[in-house]
Amino acid sequence: VDCSIEPLLDSDILWADLLMISAMHVQRDEVKRIAGRARALGRRVMVGGPYASSQPDVLLEIADHVVTGEPDNVFAAIARDLETGAAARLYEVREKPDLASLPLPRFDLLKMEKYASMSVQFSRGCPFECEFCDIITLYGRKPRTKEPARLLAEFEQLYAMGWRQTVFIVDDNFVGNQKRALELCREIEPWQAARGWPFIIYTEASIDLAGRMPLLEAMVAANFLMVFVGIESPDAAALKEARKFQNLRKDQLASVRALQRKGLWVMGGFIVGFDSDRADIFEQQRAFVEQAAIPWAMAGFLQAPPTTALFDRMVREDRLLWNSPATSNFSLPDFRTALPLATLVDGLRGLLEELYTPARFYDRAFRSLLHWRAPEGRRPPSPPVTYQVMTVIRSIVRQGLLSRYRVEYWRFFIRMLVEWRRSPIKRWWAFTLLASGDHFINYKRQVVASLAAELSRVREESRAPAQTAR
Ligand code: SF4
Repeated sequence: VDCSIEPLLDSDILWADLLMISAMHVQRDEVKRIAGRARALGRRVMVGGPYASSQPDVLLEIADHVVTGEPDNVFAAIARDLETGAAARLYEVREKPDLASLPLPRFDLLKMEKYASMSVQFSRGCPFECEFCDIITLYGRKPRTKEPARLLAEFEQLYAMGWRQTVFIVDDNFVGNQKRALELCREIEPWQAARGWPFIIYTEASIDLAGRMPLLEAMVAANFLMVFVGIESPDAAALKEARKFQNLRKDQLASVRALQRKGLWVMGGFIVGFDSDRADIFEQQRAFVEQAAIPWAMAGFLQAPPTTALFDRMVREDRLLWNSPATSNFSLPDFRTALPLATLVDGLRGLLEELYTPARFYDRAFRSLLHWRAPEGRRPPSPPVTYQVMTVIRSIVRQGLLSRYRVEYWRFFIRMLVEWRRSPIKRWWAFTLLASGDHFINYKRQVVASLAAELSRVREESRAPAQTAR
């Protein structure tokens, strides 16, 4: 059961001998709720995945069994222990498995019609050393990859099952092993060409990709059309502090532009709350996002997840807030920040407010498409016609007729039809951006409201310092 697309029912829990939960740290509240429900219904619970790997002690209090690390190769033995009633409370798997030996994912178990994209994984690990990142502490700094033929076998399965939309290669840094990534792209290209380009691919990559022309060109040739890049900050001092040296090698704005011009549409991650941040960081971030023309700019607070170098530093400096309820990058930082907390919260609130006003959002979306040089002749994905018609109708009703930003919606709609009347791929992506406003604009309202509430609370507490709990 994928709780992001459907509710977990009591009948799902009662059907099982054992409830196995895999989750990330940001989903920890949900893990606790589900584990509590399962145990109340008399079912045993096992938790694994990144959250279990980073905080097994916390989970041992609410689960019968906890698995840390990557259990791919040892799972058969764990299953035998479960069958014979000899399962341990804690399995600490230290071996980093060779991805070449993993079985093919059971895509047939998914309710495919509920997804806008399918996920596959090519590599684990990343060679860099960003201070706040737990990928390197959980998966290592030596990227491990599958064989290209092995990933193509996954593509083949999806293709045979009729999938004709986007595919997300979920690697935290697809270009962590550039040689292998290049080999893969060179094999994907003929596979896609032979089948009429069925998949549009997107992934996450470090910004140094912009300087690796053969790899960048091979990705675009293989029909990678979007990439998420961790830009984090336009301020060099923040990047040095975060040990994000790969972002300092070249001008970041020029790198974004190079990616867009070569054919990769860019989305970006941005962080505030570094020790070096000053009160003008929010304006610097806003200006960068606008200049770079990044509509989907994920801006949030710095957090110090367990196992990271930042977590260790915050412990050393006695700044970690051990009982922080932070579950996302919109939660208040889980450490005492250098900038006054009220300045930080107010700054992020204002930044998100500005970035996601409908006029700004759609203007960036339009400009991002002007910068994006989509490869000639590529076609958009072709899901069933009924799906396409229903998507357009839903968007027109929800956004074009009922929303508060319907003027901006129709302005973008008309510009899109005029500007890209001869480019189906750009028209398709423009429509996707148009529809995505429903999520971004509404979600921004929720986040801004919750930051405003936090701000009142923080200001209240700073007026009564003796009662400050954080
Ligand atoms: S580049 Fe990304 S995945 Fe790699 S260490 Fe930095 S934040 Fe982590």
